[in-house]
Amino acid sequence: MSVAENYREIEERVRAACARSGRDPKNVTLIAVSKTKPVSMLMEAYDAGARVFGENKVQEITEKVPAMPKDAKFHMIGHLQTNKIGQVIDKVSLIHSVDSLHLAEKIEKEAAKRDLIMDILLEVNVAREESKYGFFLEEVIPALETIGKYPHLHVKGLMTIAPNVENAEENRIHFKNLYQLYVDIKSKNIDNGTMSALSMGMTGDFEVAVEEGATMIRVGTGIFGSRQMGESK
Ligand SMILES: *Cc1c(COP(=O)(O)O)cnc(C)c1O
Repeated sequence: MSVAENYREIEERVRAACARSGRDPKNVTLIAVSKTKPVSMLMEAYDAGARVFGENKVQEITEKVPAMPKDAKFHMIGHLQTNKIGQVIDKVSLIHSVDSLHLAEKIEKEAAKRDLIMDILLEVNVAREESKYGFFLEEVIPALETIGKYPHLHVKGLMTIAPNVENAEENRIHFKNLYQLYVDIKSKNIDNGTMSALSMGMTGDFEVAVEEGATMIRVGTGIFGSRQMGESK
């Protein structure tokens, strides 16, 4: 199947998951995760309607942003090294992967320098996996109490990369737990009311994530096909 056909099929599956869970598909943004893929393939997705692309390497972002139409937005979804913040801060509309207080502080400094406000998500390691970056669930509210005070950061929500499982149902509990935390934070209003995004679900488990309240799903393989071995995961 072509990239365009894949994209439309994922959209259709999102609509079906929304129908099953009484949600409006307008409240779910499909992010086309285009890491390792050439601009020609991003354009195929763009022509099928994709307007938000997810990338995890600074170098790919700096190359692809100027090559794409102006209304294509890019999100940084991968671990960001502090010395590379300056290269992406004016090129991406959202950083999903703020995984430490230290990184948040550095992004705040860089945003202040340029007099801009950066939208971010806090990455949560929902299953406490050793191999993963991010805050544990119980660390998120204390972190928000610090990050929420930074004038150049808007915390738009939470993001997670759930475990790599055979059966997507195994991740339902993690999506439920993250949704619960998201709702708690909204009700406490410790984020200055900017919390509106829950980024969870990938090719293998996005339907379960949508059923559990995801507002952004990040789909790579399902749209662009598999990535080569040795390319970033
Ligand atoms: C690669 C990646 C994805 C997409 O993964 P697929 O399984 O190919 O859909 C989603 N989120 C993050 C953070 C990624 O690095």
